[in-house]
Amino acid sequence: MALLYSAPLHSPPIPFPKTQFPSLARGFFSEDSSHSVGHGLHSCKCRRRCATMTVSASGAQSAAATADSEPAPVPAPRKLRILVAGGGIGGLVFALAAKRKGFDVMVFEKDLSAIRGEGQYRGPIQIQSNALAALEAIDMDVAEEVMKAGCITGDRINGLVDGISGNWYIKFDTFTPAAERGLPVTRVISRMTLQQILARAVGDDKILNDSNVVNYVDNGDKVTVVLENGQQYEGDLLVGADGIWSKVRKILFGPKEASYSGYTCYTGIADFVPPDIETVGYRVFLGHKQYFVSSDVGAGKMQWYAFHKEPPGGTDVPNGKRERLLKIFSGWCDNVIDLILATDEDEILRRDIYDRIPIMSWGKGRVTLLGDSVHAMQPNMGQGGCMAIEDSYQLALELEKSWKHSVETGTPMDIASPLKRYEEERRIRVALIYGMARMAAIMASTYRPYLGVGLGPLSFLTKFQIPHPGRVGGRFIIQFAMPLMLNWVLGGNSSNLSGRPLSCRLTDKASDQLQRWFEDDDAMERAMGGEWYLLPAVTGNDSALKPIHLVKDMHRPLIIGNRAQTGKEGESFVIPSPQVAVEHICISYKDNAFFLTDLQSQYGTWITNNERRKYRVPPNFPVRIHPSDVIELGSDKKVTFRVKVLKTVPETFPNGGQPILQAV
Ligand SMILES: Cc1cc2nc3c(=O)[nH]c(=O)nc-3n(C[C@H](O)[C@H](O)[C@H](O)COP(=O)(O)OP(=O)(O)OC[C@H]3O[C@@H](n4cnc5c(N)ncnc54)[C@H](O)[C@@H]3O)c2cc1C
Repeated sequence: MALLYSAPLHSPPIPFPKTQFPSLARGFFSEDSSHSVGHGLHSCKCRRRCATMTVSASGAQSAAATADSEPAPVPAPRKLRILVAGGGIGGLVFALAAKRKGFDVMVFEKDLSAIRGEGQYRGPIQIQSNALAALEAIDMDVAEEVMKAGCITGDRINGLVDGISGNWYIKFDTFTPAAERGLPVTRVISRMTLQQILARAVGDDKILNDSNVVNYVDNGDKVTVVLENGQQYEGDLLVGADGIWSKVRKILFGPKEASYSGYTCYTGIADFVPPDIETVGYRVFLGHKQYFVSSDVGAGKMQWYAFHKEPPGGTDVPNGKRERLLKIFSGWCDNVIDLILATDEDEILRRDIYDRIPIMSWGKGRVTLLGDSVHAMQPNMGQGGCMAIEDSYQLALELEKSWKHSVETGTPMDIASPLKRYEEERRIRVALIYGMARMAAIMASTYRPYLGVGLGPLSFLTKFQIPHPGRVGGRFIIQFAMPLMLNWVLGGNSSNLSGRPLSCRLTDKASDQLQRWFEDDDAMERAMGGEWYLLPAVTGNDSALKPIHLVKDMHRPLIIGNRAQTGKEGESFVIPSPQVAVEHICISYKDNAFFLTDLQSQYGTWITNNERRKYRVPPNFPVRIHPSDVIELGSDKKVTFRVKVLKTVPETFPNGGQPILQAV
C-alpha cells in the first residue's frame, strides 16, 4: 500500500490565547503547502482524485510522475505523518516517541491550559518504575527531567493501613522490583510540570491548541481529521489519545457508556508534612465503602484522595466539601483528619470515577486508540497514565519496525499490521492491570475491620472488636500475591524495552533501614521524626489544660501531678484537678520512644489506644505510649490528653485556633 502525503487542509494561522505554549500558530506540515487543499472534506476528496501523490515507503515512486515523462527525481524516503487527537499524558508521550523515531507528528488538543482531561484536577500523578523505564527508552533526557522534577516515593514504605486505627495492614515493596531490574524508582510529579516538560520536548510547532477533533474520515489511503472550527488535516494514521470520553473511540466503535465505579472522589493538596514523612511514601487508608489515599508530593505538600461509595452526579453545598468529608471520615485516624483539616476548601475538587472495560480491538484501518480512550481504569493502582506511557512506547516501536521493513524490502508500508501488533502486545497487560485496579476498589469497598461492620442490626458486634475474617483472610492472600503482582506490574514490561541502559540510578537509593521497616512497625514508629505533645482532648470542659511538649531527653523525665516537684531530676507539670495526685505520672524517653509510669496514684491512669481499647495503667510499671493514644488521669475525665506527633508545630493549638486533633 502506498503512503499518502499529508497536508494542512486549512489556511489561516490559529491564535492560542489559552496555551502556555503560544507559538503553535503555523499550519501543520506547512512544508507541504504545495499539496494543501481546500477546507471541506469534499474538496479534500476532489483533490485526492485529481492530484493524489502517493509515496511508497521506499520513496522510489511518485504517482504524480507520469509514465511518459522523464523519470522524476527519487525523493528521499519519508516517514509516516501521524495525527494525534488529545494532548494529555498519552498523546504527548506518544508524540514524543514518534518524533524520536523520525515520524512527522501533529497533536490536536482541545485545551492545553490547566483545564483539560485529567489534568484539570491539577494534582500530582505517580509515575511508577515501569512507566519511567518506558520514558527512558523513549527519550532519556526527558525522562531525566521528569525524574528530577518528581518526588521519589518508591524508596519508602507504601501500602494499606486500617482507616480508623492507622495500623499497617499490608506494606508494599516498590523499591526492590525496581532496583533488581535496574529501573528508576517510582516518583510523584505535578501534572502541569509533566505536561510542560513533555510539550516542550514534542515542540510547539507539533501541538495545535484549541483544536477540538469532532470527526475523521479514513478512506483507506489516508485519514483526515476534522476540527470543530472546520479545519481539516490529513495524515497516514490517526491515534485517538483523547481520554475516557474519546470522540475518536465513539466514531470507531459507536457510543458506549463508561462504567461508573460506584465511587465519588474528592482530592486535595495540603501544606502539611506528616511526622513519618521519612519512612512513608503513600498510604491507602481502608474503610467500609470508603477509603482515603495520601501521598507525599514533595515541597512540603501532601496530596490526598477521599473515595466514598455513592451514586454519581452528587454535588456539594457551597463551601461544604471539607465539612462533608469531616463527617464521612469522622473517627478515622489522625493522618486522615489532619490532612482534611489542613486543606483549604478551594483546594478540594470532586469528581465521579469511571472506567472503561478494555476491548479486544483497539482500532480499525488507519485509526487506533491509546491510553484512557481505550482502557481508562480506576486510579487504585496509579497505573492509568503509566499504561498510556507504555502504550506510547510500543506503538512508536511497532510503527518503526514496519517502516524499516518497508524501506529494507522496498515494499509499501502496510499501516494496519503495526497497529494490530501494537494492540496484541498491549491488550493482555493492560486488561490485567485494569482488573487489578477494579479488584482493589472491590477490596476497599468490602473491607471490614471488625465483625459487625456494615451488618445493620448486628452492628453492635463491632464493639467487641473481633477481627473480621475477611480482613484476616484478605491479608494472608494479599501478602502472598502482592510481591508477585508488584514485580509484574513494575518490572513486567522492562525486558521489552530497548534503548535504555539496564542500570539503577545511584541517586535512587533507599534507607538502609527499609527492609527492617517492612517487618517491624515498631522500628518505623521509632524512626519517625517530629515533636511529641500531649494535647488536651477537645471534649469536655478541660479548656484550662495546656499542651505539654515531651522532650526527647532520657535525663529529663516529666512528672505530672497537682503540685510542683522540687529537688527531683527532670521537669514537673502541675495540673490542679481533684483526681490528679501529688505525683500522678512520670513520662520518660528512651530509644526514640516515650514511656508512661503511673506513680501509684490513688485515682488511676487509663490509656485508650488507637484501636479504641481502654486499659488501666499498672502502677509503677513503664508503659510505652504511641501517637493517638488518649491518656486520662483519674476517672472523672477532666484531665484527658491525646498523644500527638507533629512535624510542623502549628501556630495555634486546639482551644486557641484551628483544631488539629479529633475529639476523643
Ligand atoms: C483520581 C485519579 C488519580 C490518578 N492517579 C494516577 C496516578 O497516580 N498514576 C497514573 O499513572 N495514573 C493515574 N490516574 C489515571 C491517569 O490520570 C489517566 O490514566 C491519564 O491521564 C490518561 O492519559 P490520557 O492522555 O490517555 O487521557 P487524558 O489525560 O484524559 O488526556 C486526554 C486529552 O485529550 C484532550 N481531548 C479530549 N477530547 C478531545 C478532542 N475531541 N479533541 C482534542 N483533544 C481532546 C483532553 O483535553 C486531554 O488533554 C489517575 C486518575 C484519577 C481519576
